[in-house]
Amino acid sequence: RTAVVLFTRDLRVHDNPALAAACANAEQVVPMFVLDPGLQRLSANRALFLHQSLRDLRETLRTLGGDLVVRTGDPVAEVIKVASEVGAEGIALTADVSGYARRREQRLEQECQQHRISLRLFPGTSVVPPGGVRPGGGGEQYRVFSPYYRAWSAAKWRDEVATPARIVLPPELIIGELPEPPPGESPAAAPGGETEGRRRLTTWLEHVGPYDDLHDDMAADGTSRLSAYLRFGCVSPLTVANAARALDGPGPDAFVRQLGWRDFYYQVTAGFPAISTQAYRKSGDGEWRDDPEALLHWQEGTTGVPVVDAGMRQLRAEGWMHNRARLITAAFLTKHLGLDWREGVRWFFRWLIDGDVANNSGNWQWVAGTGNDTKPYRRFNPIRQAERFDPDGVYVRRYVPELISIPGRAVHQPWRLPDTVRSGLDYPGPLESHRDEAVWLRP
Ligand code: FAD
Repeated sequence: RTAVVLFTRDLRVHDNPALAAACANAEQVVPMFVLDPGLQRLSANRALFLHQSLRDLRETLRTLGGDLVVRTGDPVAEVIKVASEVGAEGIALTADVSGYARRREQRLEQECQQHRISLRLFPGTSVVPPGGVRPGGGGEQYRVFSPYYRAWSAAKWRDEVATPARIVLPPELIIGELPEPPPGESPAAAPGGETEGRRRLTTWLEHVGPYDDLHDDMAADGTSRLSAYLRFGCVSPLTVANAARALDGPGPDAFVRQLGWRDFYYQVTAGFPAISTQAYRKSGDGEWRDDPEALLHWQEGTTGVPVVDAGMRQLRAEGWMHNRARLITAAFLTKHLGLDWREGVRWFFRWLIDGDVANNSGNWQWVAGTGNDTKPYRRFNPIRQAERFDPDGVYVRRYVPELISIPGRAVHQPWRLPDTVRSGLDYPGPLESHRDEAVWLRP
């Protein structure tokens, strides 16, 4: 018996139920990845991280006696082709939630039926799969996080699966080369791969203790930075959650809660696949301004509001942004400038290595007031946020070198500096709000 494992965003051998089941049930296994040019074009940062993760996965599979078959094109057509060539009876795949992934699964199911190949979907992209916990009263999805989180925490999580001891490839298999690494875009991007992801997890577990106190401190950099590894499945979300849960204490607890948010948006997206383009809560949508110049300033990090510019520049430099800065910059775009959250979704999605449909769009809608926030009218005053979460201005000066000479918290409001100091700075005045009440930004 022969099975093909089609890897997608589960680029690991540890706790990979699709891989483990294929190895347990078939004598010969073909681990396979299909480079989909449509997806590759969406983000140079993710294309590079993917490439590094695939190289690492291939190395690991080789140590187990296997290899990674690589093809380029339509994943459905390519996997059926390989499965037919090796006479596979089954294909194993980790289930995913985005509209694109779901359509891919449906097409694959149809093709498998035609070719008399069995298709099995496995969990692995989240701790609790979408639909694994459901609200009372017959609802399919939770719309609000707190009750979801209570059910998620109380649910029985699946058991982690062991890494296969050995992989036997069918003879005469054409492996296929990985293309040259794509160039990437952010100079300080984190490198991809399961080996790196697991190394970071081990280090992180030694530092998670003060997470509860530090996770909002933008200068402290006190978060795990595991998001890209979770995004590509280089680390198993269940392994991460179990490891943190075993530690106990307010730090690990707060960290596990964030993994709950991640799962929450997956189950929202499973029920509402149009999350990137359509407002979840229609009443909050539709009054957005059109202002290409302001949008460009926001994208380039030249709004003249230091904490916003710092966040936007971190995004481009690292392909990652601190969560607090994501909240501040997203609120600035939507609630201060009055620009459409979809513009924000697109820009973040281009740069973020951890960019994924559910978490990017779900969070954007939360901030814009069109999503799952129970207080959609919430405003983030960027100055108050900056003074609270970057009290000494360290984060701002790290990313906005034009302001390096301004000490302490004065850096957050350069428009309040004496004229003699301000005129020496190569830094713009703040963009005006579209709302009259935003007097806090007036020079
Ligand atoms: P940690 O603080 O160490 O958290 C651990 C893990 O929990 C993260 O790796 C992530 O998987 C998950 N997590 C944490 N916060 C959230 C959250 N608010 N929603 C969902 N999951 C969360 N996260 C993404 O993974 N992909 C995105 O595309 C994305 N886009 C965002 C867009 C906006 C506008 C905002 C406000 C947030 C977005 N987030 C996104 C959530 C969050 O900012 C990142 O997950 C976090 O900053 C990643 O850093 P970390 O791994 O150090 O997080």
